[in-house]
Amino acid sequence: MSVKIAKNSGFCFGVKRAIKIALESAEENHDIVTLGPLIHNPQMVEKLKEERIVSVDKITEIKGRPTIIRSHGVKKEILEQLERDGIEVINATCPYVSKTQEYAEKLSEEGYKVIILGDKNHPEVKALRSYIRGEAIVVANAEELSDKTFQKVGIISQTTRKFEDFQELVRTIVPKCHELRVINTICNATSIRQNSTLKLAKESDLMIVIGGKNSSNTKMLAKISENFVETYHIETEYEINKMWFKDKRNIGITAGASTPDWIIVEVYNKIIEYMGNINNKISKVEDIPSF
Ligand code: SF4
Repeated sequence: MSVKIAKNSGFCFGVKRAIKIALESAEENHDIVTLGPLIHNPQMVEKLKEERIVSVDKITEIKGRPTIIRSHGVKKEILEQLERDGIEVINATCPYVSKTQEYAEKLSEEGYKVIILGDKNHPEVKALRSYIRGEAIVVANAEELSDKTFQKVGIISQTTRKFEDFQELVRTIVPKCHELRVINTICNATSIRQNSTLKLAKESDLMIVIGGKNSSNTKMLAKISENFVETYHIETEYEINKMWFKDKRNIGITAGASTPDWIIVEVYNKIIEYMGNINNKISKVEDIPSF
């Protein structure tokens, strides 16, 4: 019996950075807010609340307090509004997300019709659209483009999409346009996690994917894994069912880029307990055998 974790599981650079910025700001200022949840992990958002970092949904709820911009960024007009209102902005937008916003703005300024591979309801995509002059096209997959044709097209992606879907989109658009610019804005952290999840899923009898049910990159890991093996997407150890492990020998674990280490450790220890291996409990993620 073995329980292994996919390499590079858990917090990515952008999330670590956002949390560090938030915690340091909270030390200096005891009344700060984040505009929208700082990251897509409800348990971590609760922890931040204990540090007096509260999430608000609307500008009207800020009430003059210093405001942290989350790792996925916010719409351009919101930043402008905050500036007009004289609000102190602490920008924790991931630099990779900011870069994607810059590309989107530049492509549209240069006359390209911008096509974004992504989820139109995701905050990162909503923010991205606000940097584009004119209407952008957001598609979840290549099929959505149907029989459209274009003159000048610029393609970018939400940072957490699957690289293969991006390739497929590019392949589909090539015969439909006269001029094409492709900027691969899929974040490295995303593709690295997806590849190691895929490798581990192929070797496992069961995969547990840990992370927010609202986390786009975690949902993508679950989707990749379920193509190969029985997969459960959970947020915490309390969702684990002992029956899942009946007759299973090789268990794989992976975690999204916004999943904190302490949740991964709790899940691992619960699995070990259910598999009758109580003496092998661990206290840090680094102690879990990785694959
Ligand atoms: S997944 Fe990539 S783009 Fe998103 S926050 Fe992490 S490092 Fe930044």
